[in-house]
Amino acid sequence: MTMRPGGGFGRGMRNFMTEEEKANAPKVTKELIARIFSWLKPYYPQLFLTLLCIVISSFLSILPSVLTGEIIDKGLLGRNLPLLIRLILLSLAVTFGSNLIGVAESYLNSWIAQHITFDMRNKMYRHLESMSQRFFTSNNQGDIITRMTSDIDGVQRTISSTFTSILSNAITLVVALIAMFQRNWVLAIVGIVIVPLFVLPTRAAGKTRWSLTNEAQECNDEINGILNETLSVSGQTLVKLFCKEEEEYQKYEDANRRMINLNIKESMAGRWFMVVISTFSSIGPMMLYLVGGIIMMKYDDTLTVGDITVLVTLLGRMYGPVNSLLNIQVDWIRSMALFTRIFEYFDMKPEIENPEHPVIPETSTGCVKFDHVRFSYDPGHEILKDICFELPAGNSIALVGPSGSGKSTTVNLIPRLYDATGGTVYFENTDVKQLDLTWLRSRIGVVTQDTYLFNGTIRENLLYAKPDATEEDLIDACRKANIYDFIEKQEEGFETVVGNRGLKLSGGEKQRISIARILLKDPSLLIFDEATSALDSISEQKIQDAIEPLIESRTSILIAHRLSTILAADEILVIKDGVICERGQHADLIQLGGVYTELYNTQFGKAAALQPQGPEEGRVAGWNANYTEGEDYFYSDVK
Ligand code: ADP
Repeated sequence: MTMRPGGGFGRGMRNFMTEEEKANAPKVTKELIARIFSWLKPYYPQLFLTLLCIVISSFLSILPSVLTGEIIDKGLLGRNLPLLIRLILLSLAVTFGSNLIGVAESYLNSWIAQHITFDMRNKMYRHLESMSQRFFTSNNQGDIITRMTSDIDGVQRTISSTFTSILSNAITLVVALIAMFQRNWVLAIVGIVIVPLFVLPTRAAGKTRWSLTNEAQECNDEINGILNETLSVSGQTLVKLFCKEEEEYQKYEDANRRMINLNIKESMAGRWFMVVISTFSSIGPMMLYLVGGIIMMKYDDTLTVGDITVLVTLLGRMYGPVNSLLNIQVDWIRSMALFTRIFEYFDMKPEIENPEHPVIPETSTGCVKFDHVRFSYDPGHEILKDICFELPAGNSIALVGPSGSGKSTTVNLIPRLYDATGGTVYFENTDVKQLDLTWLRSRIGVVTQDTYLFNGTIRENLLYAKPDATEEDLIDACRKANIYDFIEKQEEGFETVVGNRGLKLSGGEKQRISIARILLKDPSLLIFDEATSALDSISEQKIQDAIEPLIESRTSILIAHRLSTILAADEILVIKDGVICERGQHADLIQLGGVYTELYNTQFGKAAALQPQGPEEGRVAGWNANYTEGEDYFYSDVK
């Protein structure tokens, strides 16, 4: 007779739920099940085949036990050698057949599970791509990736093992029970009564062992903590200087003693557990032999030795499925929790969606208008309170203001990374919410401070903006962005790998590559979020040389920190406390003696005091030739 204790008591395995899991167990509703089945729907034919395999193999796996009765009664006791051989061969063939079907079942199983998770992953990725910027800034990246990887892997395990395990164990159990009742109902009932005697102690012992293992683990962590702390150089210095050797030793000895006691207890729990299992597992057959014997000898002489043997064998076949089914309850709840978590993600509505009837303007000049725009990331905390400005086609504006005043937030509203909570943002004289989202974003080029280059070659990074760009296009864009000389100097040219697996680029080089990328995109509105730090003056000069002609030739918004950039713009908007508090030209604003002057003075106060000439000419000229690094910074905005 084979015993399958069914696990559940080894280190790291847990077939019962913790209190926390019990408290968080999801409600299994009809809707949830229907939703799970909607994922299975495309695979119904394959599922039906799997089901068929499970039913046949469960039947076949019980058959050899039933044939044992025939082998004993008709073959052995009937002294019929040819029949005996036939029965033995049949039994072997059935086992082989059942295993073959098992192989087919496993294949189908994993095929279905893999395809469902394939669908799920793709759909989830699409869904996440449609989520707004707010989703990515407010959710931990690790959580998002866990949802995409381990949660969906869990689903795959659930489909390939939990569901089929429930089915095959339930069928095996039912078939075994029917076969038992068919032989002798009294013995079948005795068998059913015995099963819990075996299963319950197994579970109790498993639980005890698990909690001991946990305690031992905690104790082990404590010991490691003591060792790490006290055996390090600085730890030992501290111990020595405070004469704490004896105290530390006592702490270590205590933890060590607890640990050995726990280890002894744990290994003994395992030992007692084996005693319990083997005793109960032999009580079962013995009871059947006893009751069967009494029935056979005293009440019913049609009951044969073969029948009793079949019942004993079938009883043995029941332990495994019963145990698994009891554990399955835990797996089932965990699986449901997994599905619930994944569906929660699918249920999150994309905040920013394409309008129902998207507008695509015929021409694009890049003009922008903010009409009493308000915005808050979190309700109750308004970042932009009333922003009004107009940027005509071909012009440029510089946004300045103290750190955190909402400059980046303002420009993020144009490509709809966020939607304004009040007022209207117009692009090409159309409310951005009515424009086709892909078209809108394709018309806007943003160069940010923290330039992101993919891990790949320079060419791949550039082609991201324009996949069909020719070699000439690439060279032209890189020349304009002032980065071609650098690329030419690289051994591999455009094929140089950048990012964390390749060439480490400086901030300035990265930014110039990203400017080249934007040039290839050829947007009608250019947004340039100027870097405030980490660039040396030569890099800055190169970037400045690259962007100045750009600003000249197209509509642009510059989040500017350097005087030279600010002066290059047609108009300066000063943002503070969510409103545009000052606007105009540099010379006028400086006269005002307001926020702009204050920002200017904090950065240039000292330099201005030292220089006799008017600020305008001095700074502009100075930027190109006389100023040292940092002096050109109108104000810094380090967050
Ligand atoms: P600036 O570009 O002028 O330095 P930002 O537009 O980056 O300012 O930020 C304006 C304010 O909004 C700051 O107080 C900042 O903390 C807050 N903020 C920026 N991004 C987020 C976000 N994703 N979620 C919540 N608050 C944000």
